[in-house]
Amino acid sequence: MVSSPLGDAGAMVSQQPGRTQENPLERLIEYAGSAGIQVNEEQCRQFTVYHELLEEHRQRANLTAITGLEKVRDELFLRSLEIAVALNGAERERSLGEGSRMLDIGTGAGLPGIPLALVFPDTRVTLVDSIRKKTDFLAIAIEELGLERVEVVNGRAEELAHVEEHRESYDLVTSRAVAALPELAELTIPFCKIGGMSVALKGANVEAEARSAASAAAQMGASAALLRPVRLGPPSDPDTAVVWRKTSKTPARFPRRNGVPHKRPLGVPDRSGVSKADA
Ligand code: SAH
Repeated sequence: MVSSPLGDAGAMVSQQPGRTQENPLERLIEYAGSAGIQVNEEQCRQFTVYHELLEEHRQRANLTAITGLEKVRDELFLRSLEIAVALNGAERERSLGEGSRMLDIGTGAGLPGIPLALVFPDTRVTLVDSIRKKTDFLAIAIEELGLERVEVVNGRAEELAHVEEHRESYDLVTSRAVAALPELAELTIPFCKIGGMSVALKGANVEAEARSAASAAAQMGASAALLRPVRLGPPSDPDTAVVWRKTSKTPARFPRRNGVPHKRPLGVPDRSGVSKADA
């Protein structure tokens, strides 16, 4: 018998004597299902198309260094869905259910926004990135995948957060691999409705980084971060979902001008030891 590299539970697309054919993406159904996230066959097919689009445009649009079906499944698709795993039932309903609005800041190739849009089709999703080549790719992907409730916006978070249709307009704001948490708090929380949340996906050991962002989050009107370990897919170190819940309006002066949240993160002492929080 030819054994499957994925073990006995590998989903078989077709089985012929002496030969095993499988689509590794079929295992999304099982992995996600084990965490209570339902992925159906049609969505699986859409993930296959999305993977093909990523491979086709990867180099031209500088989308991701990750390639190969299993790696893309585990590192990009399943990791993106960890955002949903980090939410409890009520939070998931409010953030990703019927009538909800979600924003993905610094989405790059569409991560985590597109996997979430595929699995939670009731959500209206806005994907934001400042790099034109990436947003051009996303426009193609949205069209090819038939994602009618997904839109893409080219721009910087610092500017878009001051535009009325985006400011304090989202139930859920997501981010992955965009910036350190003090900067991220300023780039994401202004977009959240009061009662909404910003969820940043990080690796392990983020306690110190989260503490350093406490002042920035408070200034944006959010409660202290909750750190929720999450893991979807083959076992490895858990990731951390950093969850900020917005409790009050963000003062109109935030976020500051382009690049300032990065250069002078709120509440983080510079090398002279002076906090720039009120600069
Ligand atoms: N979230 C994706 C991409 C991470 S790379 C993933 O997980 O793979 C970070 C992306 O954030 C880049 O595409 C960059 O253009 C974008 N970005 C960084 N700062 C930004 C800002 N202030 N406004 C909008 N996009 C930003």
